[in-house]
Amino acid sequence: MALYRYAQIPNGSKRIGKGIVFGWSGNTISLTVNLEVSGEGATAPLAAEIGKTIETIWNASFTDNYRVSSTVNTRYRGQGNEDSDRTQIYVKHDDATTCVHTLPTLYYAYMEYNINSETTASWTPAHEFGHLLGLDDKYEEGIRSRINSMYGGPRSTSVVPGWAGNIMAAHLGTLQKRNLQELFALHAFELVTFVEDGFNEMWGLWDSGVRKLYTGW
Ligand SMILES: [Zn+2]
Repeated sequence: MALYRYAQIPNGSKRIGKGIVFGWSGNTISLTVNLEVSGEGATAPLAAEIGKTIETIWNASFTDNYRVSSTVNTRYRGQGNEDSDRTQIYVKHDDATTCVHTLPTLYYAYMEYNINSETTASWTPAHEFGHLLGLDDKYEEGIRSRINSMYGGPRSTSVVPGWAGNIMAAHLGTLQKRNLQELFALHAFELVTFVEDGFNEMWGLWDSGVRKLYTGW
C-alpha cells in the first residue's frame, strides 16, 4: 500500500504557452508574457492597452505571501507573418463573445478579442489572460446561453458558489489569492509518496507502510 499527496514544488520556471513563462518561488509567481495583436480591429494603441491591462491587473499581492508580477511585451502586427514565439490575439469587430481557445493544449492557445458592448479593454484582456494561463471560468452557463453568446444574443450565467466577485466569475471581478492557488495546483504541484510498502532497512524486513522521509512535509 502507498499513500500519496500533492505538494507545491518550492521553485521553478516553465514555458506554458508561446512566449509565456510561468516562474515561481515560494508563493510568488513571476510571469513573462509575449503577445502579438493582429486582425481587422487591431490597432497599435489597442495592442498597447491590452498588454497594459494584463500587466496592471496581474500585478498583485495577497495574504500568506501570495504575489504575482507580470512583465508583458505586446507587439501590434499590421502585416506580415505571425511570430511563433508569441501568443496570438486576433481582434475583430464582432458581437460574438471574446474567448480563448486552448485546444489541443495550453501551448497552442490563442485569443479571439471581439470589440463589442461586452468587452472592456481595461478588464476583459485580464480575464482572458487567466484562460491563457489555464484557469477556467467560475460561472455556469446553460447551453441556450452558450449558443446565444456565439451569435451576440443574450446570456444568462450564474456564479459558482464561493467565487462571487472573482476575475474568472464576474464582469469586472478582481484577481484573488485563490486564482494564484489554482495556478500553483496547475503548474507547480507534484505527487509525492509519503508512505510506501518496502524494505525496512532498520529491521531488515519487508514491511508495510515504511515511512519514506521527504523534506518539506
Ligand atoms: Zn472566460
